Amino acid sequence: MYRYNTRQYQALLLDLDGTILNLDIENFIPAYLEVLSEKYTGNLNRDVFIRHLLESTARMVANNEPNRKNIEVFYDEFCQRIGQSREQIHSILEDFYQNDFPALSSWGGKHPYARELLENARQNNMILVLATNPIFPLTAIVQRLGWGGFSPEEFDFITSIENMHFCKPNPAYYKEIISRINCSPQQCLMAGNDTLEDLSAAKAGLDTFLVEDLILQRGDQNPAYTYRGKLKDLAFFIKGLEAFRY
Ligand SMILES: [Mg+2]
Repeated sequence: MYRYNTRQYQALLLDLDGTILNLDIENFIPAYLEVLSEKYTGNLNRDVFIRHLLESTARMVANNEPNRKNIEVFYDEFCQRIGQSREQIHSILEDFYQNDFPALSSWGGKHPYARELLENARQNNMILVLATNPIFPLTAIVQRLGWGGFSPEEFDFITSIENMHFCKPNPAYYKEIISRINCSPQQCLMAGNDTLEDLSAAKAGLDTFLVEDLILQRGDQNPAYTYRGKLKDLAFFIKGLEAFRY
């Protein structure tokens, strides 16, 4: 299933949804959009609002400008489309994430091996990065982390819409992470359940671990990965790295 590595991994990059958090993103997103569109008080109808939101998100994901943060790209596009100011939109979204997003918590659950995985990585003094696609504000990421039984302090770096300039599957997203944590690509292992978004880390020179528990098969039908297995296997693999060092 996998071979023992010959690399000295210093950092473990972990996807959130469907990887260390039991959450089916493909069913969660429609539920999330339903609640958000109910909150929206502008003069657009629901379907038009959702279309603009999704197309603005797609514009952000495709953006490749190194000097504009994801949140800037999103707001510029979205505000222009719906004809409201950034301040107006921001206050609606802030209210939504504080008061309504928590009600979606039933969509997320703890993974039985996620805690053990993080503890094994910590015991090996690995840098821990929450490499979740930075299309959400930090508050939405921290809340989902909580649904999985974790706190943000357990990670050395968390990617969010506010602090990143690129999104998955752009390899520049992974390059930005490794520069933030001062590692080379060869020192990092990226683990996730999405064959497109997570395995694209290989294009930035990282090794990858495809997590099969809630696998999302997208893009290439035969994607290249370094290792694959259940999250349980990843926890075991990370634990084994310690013995390998000596
Ligand atoms: Mg995922």
